[in-house]
Amino acid sequence: SSVQLPSQQKAALTEKIGDSVEVIQYTDIDTPQITSPTDVIIKNKYAGVNYIESYFRKGIYPIASFPYIFGREASGIIAAVGDEVTKYKVGDKVAYVNPSTFAQYSKIDESKVQVLKLPESIGDDQLKLYGSFFIQGLTALTFVHEAYEVKKSDYILVWAAAGGVGQILVQLGRLIGANVIAVASTNEKLDIAKGLGAKYLINSSKDDVLAKVKEITNDNGVAASFDSVGKDTFETSLAALARKGTLVSFGNSSGTVDPLSINRLSAKNIKLARPTVMNYVVTQDEWDFYTEKFLKYIKDGDIKVEITKTYPLSQYKQAATDLESRKTTGKLALEIPQ
Ligand code: NDP
Repeated sequence: SSVQLPSQQKAALTEKIGDSVEVIQYTDIDTPQITSPTDVIIKNKYAGVNYIESYFRKGIYPIASFPYIFGREASGIIAAVGDEVTKYKVGDKVAYVNPSTFAQYSKIDESKVQVLKLPESIGDDQLKLYGSFFIQGLTALTFVHEAYEVKKSDYILVWAAAGGVGQILVQLGRLIGANVIAVASTNEKLDIAKGLGAKYLINSSKDDVLAKVKEITNDNGVAASFDSVGKDTFETSLAALARKGTLVSFGNSSGTVDPLSINRLSAKNIKLARPTVMNYVVTQDEWDFYTEKFLKYIKDGDIKVEITKTYPLSQYKQAATDLESRKTTGKLALEIPQ
């Protein structure tokens, strides 16, 4: 804890709600300091970009106080520890999930569950990967296990299939032996989904998604729809489900889903799930179970996470612009100045 931290740091933040990325600032802000004996301060090196940031910025999800530093995940090294901390020492490398990671320094409590210690020998490319794949990886993994347990031979619909979460959902579907129907807005994106194991491809800019699903499933519909697009696609997802199917609605890329009457579910005895990844990895056991499973898939080469672009932290506004204008595929990362 004797380490002297700079009083100011660089961060990507906003001071107000805004639909436009123009509210995003790259600026100086106070560095977090050790104020409790169990505090741990991490010097971030890489952070993953996730679509959820846009929901906070736009006010779709509430922000408790401003300035609001963006970010949900990162990797880096322990920069300072409180007097009672035994789990970490200065210099340890970690990857973790926590708010406010688009900054040079973040503070967590030693008791925080969602942290993974990394070997000292880990190189920069690996460090970047660890700082960028947990949110999307654990989202896909927990959802195919718990939101709807995907089974061999199931037909499942995966929206935004070339996106960060989508690519991992497609690969998990393939590994389980499901028939993955990938939806994306361009043929280039569909090619990516095909390469990852999607059996059927639907181009949402050209095709009638529902008609295609009916054709592919012989009019039966799908066992589950993993729908992150939200407002624009909810009705199609509902209509695409088989009897006893599950709609896993987990995002608002096109806007928030309109309220619905639960009576609508009875027509096909449908289950509707609206999960959030972090409610599946709350306890140490849950975090360990899913991270170990995910890391094994990565290690065995069964799941590939492609970081398609790395932006300097100063360019987070550009990363958000690209992500929100549907220009990107796979994972975007940020490199934090040291
Ligand atoms: P993606 O890489 O999937 O990017 C979003 C994609 O959504 C776009 O590339 C685009 O693909 C598609 N899309 C469809 N309609 C629109 C629209 N109107 N505007 C913008 N994009 C649109 O992002 P992530 O992998 O980071 O996240 C995917 C989704 O999953 C997000 O909605 C995110 O919030 C959600 N999510 C939810 C979690 C949870 O716990 N509930 C956790 C993690 C992510 P295309 O052009 O092919 O349609």
